[in-house]
Amino acid sequence: MGREDLSVTEREIRRRRSSLIMKSLIALLILVLAGLAALLLYETKFKVYNNPWAPQTGDLMESSESETQPQKRVSAQEQSLEAQANRLAAQYDYDAAIELLKGQPGFDRSDRRKILVASYEKTKAGCSPYAIDQITHVFFHTLVRDDAKAFDGDEDMDGYNQVMTTISEFNSIIQQMYNRGYVMVSMHDMVEVAEDGSVATKEIRLPAGKKPFVLSQDDCSYYHYMAGDGFAEKLIVDENGKVKNSYIEDDGSVSIGDYDVVPLIDTFVESHPDFAYHGHKGIVALTGYEGVLGYRTDEVYKTREAARLTGWQTKFLEEHPDFDFEKEVAEAKAVADAMRAEGWEFASHTWGHINPAARSLEQVQTDTERWRDWVQPVVGATDVLIFAFGADISDWTPYSHENAYFNYYKSMGFNIYCNVDGSVKAWVQIGSDYMRMGRRNLDGYRMYYNPGLLEDLFDVETAWDDNRPTPVPQM
Ligand SMILES: [Zn+2]
Repeated sequence: MGREDLSVTEREIRRRRSSLIMKSLIALLILVLAGLAALLLYETKFKVYNNPWAPQTGDLMESSESETQPQKRVSAQEQSLEAQANRLAAQYDYDAAIELLKGQPGFDRSDRRKILVASYEKTKAGCSPYAIDQITHVFFHTLVRDDAKAFDGDEDMDGYNQVMTTISEFNSIIQQMYNRGYVMVSMHDMVEVAEDGSVATKEIRLPAGKKPFVLSQDDCSYYHYMAGDGFAEKLIVDENGKVKNSYIEDDGSVSIGDYDVVPLIDTFVESHPDFAYHGHKGIVALTGYEGVLGYRTDEVYKTREAARLTGWQTKFLEEHPDFDFEKEVAEAKAVADAMRAEGWEFASHTWGHINPAARSLEQVQTDTERWRDWVQPVVGATDVLIFAFGADISDWTPYSHENAYFNYYKSMGFNIYCNVDGSVKAWVQIGSDYMRMGRRNLDGYRMYYNPGLLEDLFDVETAWDDNRPTPVPQM
C-alpha cells in the first residue's frame, strides 16, 4: 500500500513538473512570438528605413508626409536628395548612390544618410555577377497601335502579322519579363572597348533573382509605306521634355502618347526603375534611306535628286510643299538627344537595309558612308552594327581579319555586331576586338510557331493579341 501511495505521489510530482515545463515552454513561445510580432511591426511601421530605397519610397515620402511623424522634419531638399540616391540604388548603381550621399556636406552628422549608405552597401554585398555569355537579347519592330488598320487585308498585312508586335502584346511581354526578374542592360555593360579597339568582358552584378537582358528595336524609321496602317507617325519631344509618339487619327487630328517601344519603356521605367540597370534602356537600330525616327533627314530629301527619289519620297515631298530639311534635322536631333538622356542608344542597321554579305565590298562602303554622313550627324556615333534581315558577315565561327567585311566595319569603328538567332536563349561571342550577339524576335511569327522557345521570357497565351489573324503566314 505504502509503496503504491509513494509511487502515486511520485507520478503526481512528475506530472506536475512536466506540466510546469510545458507551461514554461508555451510562455516562452508566446514571448518569442510577441517579440517577433513587435519586430515585424517595428520593421514595417516604425522603422522608416527598412529597405529604404524601394522604388516607391520617394513617392511615399511625399504623399504620407502628414501621417508619418519623423518625416515631417525632413526638408524637401533632403527628400529629393534621398529620392535621387534611392533611384540610383534601385537601378543597381550602389556606388553612385553612396557617392551622391557621401559627397554632400555634413554627411558625417546625418544619421539618415548613414543608414541609407549602410543599406546600399548591404544590398551591394549581396549581389553576384551574371554570366555575360548567358545574357539574352530580344528585339521588336515598330509596334502596331491600331490592329484594325494593320490587319486590314491590304498587301502589307502579312508582313506586319509576321514581324510586328502589337502594343497590347508588348505591354504584356514587358510586364511578364519584369515580373520574372528581367533587367535591361546595355551591350556596353557587357564589354569594354579600349582605345586600341580591343574588347574585354565587363561584370554585371545583380541581386539574386534578377536576370539581365538586352532590348533592341529595329527600323524605328516610320517608313512611308506604313502611313495609314495603324503605326505612330514619329517620335517627338513633348512640352515636358519627354519622348512621345505622334499618331495621325482618321480625322487628321494628331494624338500624342506612348504608341511605340521608346515611350512605352520610358513610362514603364518611371514606375519600375529597377527594370533599367544603371538607367540603361534599349538600343534602336536605324537605317537611313528614309531618315530616322519619323524625320525625313536623308540626303535625297535635301537634294531631291530625281534619279534617287523613290515613288514614296516624291509623293511625300509633293504632299509637304513646306518641307524644311534643316528644321527636320534639328527636330530629329532634339528627339535623339532626349532619348540618349533617357538611357537609349543607337545602332546602325545599315543605311539601305542591306545584307552586306550579298553585296560587294564597294557597295558596303558606299552604304556605310551614307550612314556616317546622314544618320550619324543626327543620332551620334555608334560602334554597334545590328544587321538587317538577321544577316551576318560570317557563319557562327569567330570573325577573322581574313574577312574583308569585318576588317572594313571594324575600321569604321564598329565593335559590336548583332544577328538574329531565335533558336537559343543566349548567343554571345566575344573575340579579342569584337562582340557578337544573337537576338530573338518577339513577333507574331515567333509567338505563333515557336511559343516554347519563349517560355523563359513570357507566356505567349497571356500576351497574344486575339486581333492578330491566324494562321500567321509562313515565311
Ligand atoms: Zn530591319
